[in-house]
Amino acid sequence: MRALTVQPARPGPPQVVDVPEPLPGEHDLLVDGLAVGVCGTDREIAAGEYGWAPPGHGRLVLGHESLGRVRAAPADSGFAAGDLVAGVVRRPDPVPCGACAQGQFDMCRNGRYTERGIKELDGYASERWRVEASYAVRLNPRLAEVGVLMEPTSVVAKAWDQVEQVGRRSWFDPQRVLVTGAGPIGLLAALLGVQRGLDVHVLDIVTSGPKPDLVRALGATYHHEGVAEATRGAEPDVIIDATGVSAVVFDAICATASYGIVCLTGVSSAGRGASGRSNSSRRRVSVNVASCGRRPSNTARIRLSPDQLWKSVTVAGPNAAR
Ligand SMILES: [Zn+2]
Ligand SMILES: [Zn+2]
Repeated sequence: MRALTVQPARPGPPQVVDVPEPLPGEHDLLVDGLAVGVCGTDREIAAGEYGWAPPGHGRLVLGHESLGRVRAAPADSGFAAGDLVAGVVRRPDPVPCGACAQGQFDMCRNGRYTERGIKELDGYASERWRVEASYAVRLNPRLAEVGVLMEPTSVVAKAWDQVEQVGRRSWFDPQRVLVTGAGPIGLLAALLGVQRGLDVHVLDIVTSGPKPDLVRALGATYHHEGVAEATRGAEPDVIIDATGVSAVVFDAICATASYGIVCLTGVSSAGRGASGRSNSSRRRVSVNVASCGRRPSNTARIRLSPDQLWKSVTVAGPNAAR
């Protein structure tokens, strides 16, 4: 069967190569791949800046944002043929650290975790794949066209969950949120903010293309002139950064309301100097989320609307509308 692969640490376009059929273990599902999402992490892997092949292998199968349909499932797995599923990306480290021992492997402390399609485990970008039943998430059948967004949405759901947990350390009644970056993660963060009844503002740099209209269609306000302009009307109680750009993150930290919360959904190589720097004496909290586990709080509250989400999917492939 075919799979989309790279040679980690060697920059170059991913290649479709023949790989062996998956051999499901006793507790595994065998899944027909329907879709994979491609995000900035995949771009970094293709550029040779990130990613590790499984031990003893030269190539890594890409694909951490998955959607598939179960072809075969163990009788006691809770899954059945035909189920729509997404695979969890991360697996706990083998030690395990305290967090992994508690099932919080998205918060792994020793860095020895593995990740499908990213770190030492082949991903889901193949015609068929196997996944442990305990690391599969069943999706509503209505999400057949947009369920590939479950993984990035779960990261954003975790972001909101963390913001709310941190906020509850004292009185917390957020009204206004600024999302920086209107890519898929930013749009999903805005969507979940609107679902919470918040006054959502989204900042990006473009003035044309689909982003401004997508933001407005979500019920949020679009800005393009920088953090200062976007926060002129009122200081946001929550800022969710989906740019990873250090200059934006610094501006965001300075622009929040007192006791506001800045949540980083990922830090790019350009933003790795961000931690620890703040030029303000007011108390603020920054939270970093880049991976999602499968705790109920991260997935159960996600309300995916196919109509809203479909607009934020770019489809590529032989049969795709361009
Ligand atoms: Zn991703
Ligand atoms: Zn760990």
